[in-house]
Amino acid sequence: MCGIVAYIGKKQAFPIVLKGLKRLEYRGYDSAGVALLNNGSLNIYKRSGKVSNLEGFALKSDVEGNAGIGHTRWATHGAPNDVNAHPHFSNDGTLALIHNGIIENYDILKKDLTSKGYTFKSETDTEVLVHLIDDIRKNENVWFGEALRRALHHVVGAYAIVVISKDEPNKLVAARKSSPLVVGIGNEGDFYLASDATPIVEYTKNVVYLEDEEIAVIDLAEGLRIYNIGDQEKTPYVQQLELELAALEKGGYEHFMIKEINEQPRSIQDCFRGRLNATEGWVSLGGIREYEQKMINANRMIIVACGTSWHAGLVGEYLIEDLARINVEVEYASEFRYRNPIITENDIVIAISQSGETADTLAALELAKSKGATILGICNVVGSSISRITDAGSYTHAGPEIGVASTKAFTAQVTILTLMALSLGHKKGMINDSKFHTLLAELEAIPDKVKTVLESNKAIEKIAEEYKNASNALYLGRGSSFPVALEGALKLKEISYIHAEGYPAAEMKHGPIALIDENMPVFVIATHGNSYEKVVSNIQEVKARKGKIVAIVTQGDKHVKELADHIIEIPETDEFLVPLLATIPFQLLSYHIAVMRGCNVDQPRNLAKSVTVE
Ligand code: GLU
Repeated sequence: MCGIVAYIGKKQAFPIVLKGLKRLEYRGYDSAGVALLNNGSLNIYKRSGKVSNLEGFALKSDVEGNAGIGHTRWATHGAPNDVNAHPHFSNDGTLALIHNGIIENYDILKKDLTSKGYTFKSETDTEVLVHLIDDIRKNENVWFGEALRRALHHVVGAYAIVVISKDEPNKLVAARKSSPLVVGIGNEGDFYLASDATPIVEYTKNVVYLEDEEIAVIDLAEGLRIYNIGDQEKTPYVQQLELELAALEKGGYEHFMIKEINEQPRSIQDCFRGRLNATEGWVSLGGIREYEQKMINANRMIIVACGTSWHAGLVGEYLIEDLARINVEVEYASEFRYRNPIITENDIVIAISQSGETADTLAALELAKSKGATILGICNVVGSSISRITDAGSYTHAGPEIGVASTKAFTAQVTILTLMALSLGHKKGMINDSKFHTLLAELEAIPDKVKTVLESNKAIEKIAEEYKNASNALYLGRGSSFPVALEGALKLKEISYIHAEGYPAAEMKHGPIALIDENMPVFVIATHGNSYEKVVSNIQEVKARKGKIVAIVTQGDKHVKELADHIIEIPETDEFLVPLLATIPFQLLSYHIAVMRGCNVDQPRNLAKSVTVE
């Protein structure tokens, strides 16, 4: 995963790179490092742990220089220690390199370079890159940018890399394949490079997203040039960023996660802005409009995703199958890509990914594309790799999500899938006008109802206090609330490190019921709808084994209230829309429990937000 950032120009590079690393820290926080070029010397500062460790350490020295590269690591090869931290140096100290990705053939390259006399200091796969470039540079007598281009022909794997050289202090060279990289064109003849636009936006809105196997050569005298690895020059496509700086700050909240939970009335609203009008009775997902007929006629739709996005996909399956009567399958992208799936030209493959960079999801899409399927995307990050390779898609417009545990991106993904189900169902004639209008009005009312759910924050905090020391938890739901249970369990695991499992409520008796005792909290979605009575029976089964019940119920519910140890009320809504409301109390519960347990909610251990490695 890792975040990479670089600067070259007239300003001091260190503060820019450091600030950029803080913005990218959601991508990994095993270690951080910076290399600075200053009057012919190349100085490297690196430290295991968070960017703040690096800051404390580096600021003891003279961190001068107008060119610098920085890295925040999510370790794939080698322990998260000082030595394995990037940047990595060439043996003669001329080159420094940062890398996001995995070099799959590093072992062979390493053996070869070792036999040529190169010494490896780290256990990373990355270090082979810097020695390989150095070797080509010396043996083939070419400058380091050309050496990098030639080196890439020997490399198998995924990379976004930036290289800096003592010999060419006015140049930075970068390249990407499967890992993202953006170039910012500054207003003072200077340049920025980063894994995403967040470190760049406060300096310039002019950016170029590098494509796979492209190399960016930045020369302060000649500007930005883009080449492919075959050495053909390409014209840079300069885009305007729409990102606003304020969206990247905590805005008075203690953590990004709680800020993002509270943003959901707005983010859901933004997601359907211009796409839904209940008064006039229409839904229009502009991005995919011309593919709707194809979706209706499709053999089936396959949703590929990972983690939270996979849970959103499952909600989508329930809604699209029920409302539009189109066959939907939901697959883990990592399984789909390697299991030789049957894909035909009549299939529609939809990728869901907050970052739009998830490596497995991207690869699953590429596979589907190669088999002739139509590929669509649901992403949050504008300009991301998935949004660029798909035939069409819909952005979720949730705004930057910085907390590693996804919250507002999930509800935005579910909103898009709900709009999709409604639009397809109506166009296909599976939902009559009256039901369509009712559902549109209900959906339009969701942001206000989310606000109402958020008002239970204090009550939810009290419930959290009671269960903060649990070592296990079970989450149960039926129908489209089953994926909400999965998501609730994932949220608790991710940020509080309590073992939790989500189950379809009826499946509990096929195994997990054995775990229930008086210490086991069971979080159940028991809202009004088709399976209400069935869920009530499942609650009885838990109570009979002395389990503790925390139930999410429809406002005014009496029955479950008598059975449950705690209830959290959510406003009445159509059953199809319950996932958008029932998710919120689970997010708040996990948040409060994690805070009470002293966990770092925004940067949970071992995780990173944008999973750009497989
Ligand atoms: N493979 C490199 C390392 O372990 C980079 C990791 C990444 O991009 O996640 O240091």
